[in-house]
Amino acid sequence: MDSRTRTQLRQLPSVDELLQEPSIREKAQTLPRWAVIEAIREALERRRQMIAKGQSGSTPSDLPSRTVLAAEAQQIAVRLSRPALRHLINATGVVIHTNLGRAPLAEVAIDRVVEAARGYSNLEYDLERGDRGSRQEHVEQLLCRLTGAEAALAVNNNAAAVLLAINTLAEGKEVIVSRGELVEIGDSFRIPDIMCRAGGILREVGTTNRTYLRDYEDAVGTASAIILKVHTSNFRIQGFTSQVPVVELAGLGEKTGLPVVEDVGSGALLDLSQLGLSKEPMPSESIRAGADLVTFSGDKLLGGPQAGLIVGKQLLVARLRRNPLARAIRIDKLSLAALEATLRLYLDEGQAVAHVPVLRALVMPLQEIERRARRLCEAISDQLSAISCQHEVSVIDGTSEVGGGALPLETIPTRLVAVRSVLLSAPVLERRLRRTDPPVMVRIKDDRIVLDPRTVSEDELDTLANLVASAAVSKEADIDS
Ligand SMILES: *Cc1c(COP(=O)(O)O)cnc(C)c1O
Repeated sequence: MDSRTRTQLRQLPSVDELLQEPSIREKAQTLPRWAVIEAIREALERRRQMIAKGQSGSTPSDLPSRTVLAAEAQQIAVRLSRPALRHLINATGVVIHTNLGRAPLAEVAIDRVVEAARGYSNLEYDLERGDRGSRQEHVEQLLCRLTGAEAALAVNNNAAAVLLAINTLAEGKEVIVSRGELVEIGDSFRIPDIMCRAGGILREVGTTNRTYLRDYEDAVGTASAIILKVHTSNFRIQGFTSQVPVVELAGLGEKTGLPVVEDVGSGALLDLSQLGLSKEPMPSESIRAGADLVTFSGDKLLGGPQAGLIVGKQLLVARLRRNPLARAIRIDKLSLAALEATLRLYLDEGQAVAHVPVLRALVMPLQEIERRARRLCEAISDQLSAISCQHEVSVIDGTSEVGGGALPLETIPTRLVAVRSVLLSAPVLERRLRRTDPPVMVRIKDDRIVLDPRTVSEDELDTLANLVASAAVSKEADIDS
């Protein structure tokens, strides 16, 4: 180490000295002390490394002042003390975005979660009998009523529901499934893998694009345990195709004594075609068609909490319940509280459409989106004009997506607010918006960022406008990295 480096290192203030800086002392009153101290250490360490690499100028006067170091430490302290899992604004127009937490909950569901979280509850206690109860009782009747099934079971998520069904009914035996349905749903959920982990033996039938009833018939043998049908949620095979409807599989199931299990994926509890969208499979229809067990997610089109719902024949559901795995994948009380409240809304379809945020977003009238887009556009323009920043902000036509592996080919017409900054390229602006507080998620289209008001709530519009306007003009150094 040369003498200049040594001098520079010696001139850095100590942690205690920085703690005495007025700006830091002020910050220390609102932020946790551990975060402030750790931040100062981190800021100093960064400097030491820069000095050691000779990146800190050639004379001691090039060293940052205490004020600069304090400002750096402050930024780090803010980052350290905020939660890792945070609220963000979803301006992508993807309604069920798996990476962004899927379905926002209805207000009534949020209230139930808070109540269940805050105190004790009759989670597993039967108040009538004065004895131990089952957590399933809070939702089983509702699920039966909404799907027409005899019995129901709620677990942690749909992947777990499929695992439980296969493990209970087909461990060490064959699961007959069409080659066209061996899908990968999302990051690491592949039907063949789950099947294997559940102990089932995959018995593929048919081809990728065409599978007939006789393919299933030919596969039935002494080793067969169940017939599985999987909704190919996030993709479609188009053109020369053929799949066997569940009603025909149910006929075969009846003849052979094999239970028919259908994973319908997003599972709409109401008919989306009545709302102007394409149809998604409904659990109630599968039950009516004769499926013995149907599984679906709680936080996709249903618009509730993360959950896996299993509905179907009493005897089969009872067997699933008795499987020790059921305990390992049970639904937690907060999700259960949200699930019950969400399901209750579906008892009246009008209520569901009015209050379940996923449904509201999907059926939001174009006029309403247009109004929000105009408001957003004006607010951003006004702010940028006020500081005489050159910009292009406009309302353009575009499309929103359902997401969550539902209706993959369906795009819903929407209005987008397109923002082009004269100073910044779209990817730079997009990156900046990810780092604001709250972060903002946007799409990029023709070197502009586009904001879709469909997935932005009314009370987020002003915040969104402020964040976009300031990100479009602020200097890079102002953005917390
Ligand atoms: C989404 C999906 C799953 C997984 O559901 P999770 O609730 O995310 O576990 C399983 N099967 C199908 C067909 C799906 O669409």
